[in-house]
Amino acid sequence: MKIRMKTPLVEMQGDEMTRILWDAIKEKLICPHVELKTEFYDLGLPNREQTADKVTTDAAEAVRRLGVGVKCATITPNAQRVVEYKLTKMWLSPNGTIRAALDGTVFRAPILVKGITPYIPTWTKPITIARHAYGDVYRNAEIKVEGKAQAKISVTYPDGKTDEKVIADFSGPGIIQGIHNTDASIGSFARSCFNYALDTRQDVWFATKDTISKTYDHRFKDVFAEIYEAEYKEKFEKIGIRYDYTLIDDSVARIVRSNGGFIWALKNYDGDVMSDMVATAYGSLAMMTSVLVSPDGKYEYEAAHGTVTRHYYRHLQGEKTSTNPVATIFAWTGALRKRGELDSLPDLTAFADKLEKATIDTIEAGTMTKDLVSLFSGKANGVDSETFLDAIAARL
Ligand code: NAP
Ligand code: MG
Repeated sequence: MKIRMKTPLVEMQGDEMTRILWDAIKEKLICPHVELKTEFYDLGLPNREQTADKVTTDAAEAVRRLGVGVKCATITPNAQRVVEYKLTKMWLSPNGTIRAALDGTVFRAPILVKGITPYIPTWTKPITIARHAYGDVYRNAEIKVEGKAQAKISVTYPDGKTDEKVIADFSGPGIIQGIHNTDASIGSFARSCFNYALDTRQDVWFATKDTISKTYDHRFKDVFAEIYEAEYKEKFEKIGIRYDYTLIDDSVARIVRSNGGFIWALKNYDGDVMSDMVATAYGSLAMMTSVLVSPDGKYEYEAAHGTVTRHYYRHLQGEKTSTNPVATIFAWTGALRKRGELDSLPDLTAFADKLEKATIDTIEAGTMTKDLVSLFSGKANGVDSETFLDAIAARL
């Protein structure tokens, strides 16, 4: 008998090679065992074009309503895609739209496999990166200063009160930049981090450069501390996890010497840079999971990689590709497990665990997609995606 579900998952189908893998994962690994209940949204670029991107906002609304979603990688249109897909508009990134609608934070964590040693071999447990996704240099105002000039920043309140400071007295050409953030956005980020920590029973390390940025970065540190003291300290102590603030340079040194197993919360730019460093150090982008968590506890699971366009073009020419489906499988298991927890369905939660184990065991036993072969220390058999999925299905 198949495992029953109560509440549907929000299922967001995507583009290109990952769209193909999506259907294969459902067919071979999930539907034979689970009476899958989903509310389906096709976020593939042709349907975003057809619905004038309404499908994306509808899907985001559905995640808010139902609480758990699983998303396939999608194309973020650029000029070349506008031509390729005959778009009437360069639609926004679906991830950006969903993240804004949920006011969420993205957590990225590597999937560890015996036989694939990270470049930092002491990292025996995953390091989860939480990147603040609002403001700072990503919403800046920049001016190229042409020559001798005085640059200032100023704030004007509705009552006419102003606050002003000199940035620099230029004697020749240069550059300036204005950045901002809000207490509300920093607070949402902090709550998402603390909720995710409670959920996964991991410590949180937050790092900024508050010794240099005594107002800006210091505000981040204070907001985290205020929210932690008022809302989370007791809950953390009860399950034996910690919250620590560290200076970013100190934090980098400690991370390298660590064994992993914690959440590293970072400002927008730091998170952008460090997530690439951490992903690379663990071996492969194809083995990185990603989950968007809102401050009020809504979850959207996906793979960290894109639609693997190059493989898709080869697939269209009839070639069997060896595209790694592991992160997409883990997006499904993450969502099914969370649904199982929220709906008190232990069979569903157990199924998610078993599917993850079958996937990891298949690789550890030597069968994997070709991207992993050179990283694997044992004898590796590099196969196409379909053969790999069949091997997992057999084990499951
Ligand atoms: P990508 O799809 O992540 O692929 C880049 C390269 O990384 C691939 O060509 C492949 O290298 C390797 N790779 C990534 N995932 C793999 C997997 N599962 N199995 C095996 N190899 C994998 O990034 P991209 O080519 O820059 O972007 C393609 C499209 O994805 C773009 O339209 C972009 O907008 C979109 N994108 C979407 C998301 C998202 O929805 N979250 C994220 C990023 C990008 P080889 O070709 O050398 O094998
Ligand atoms: Mg980046």
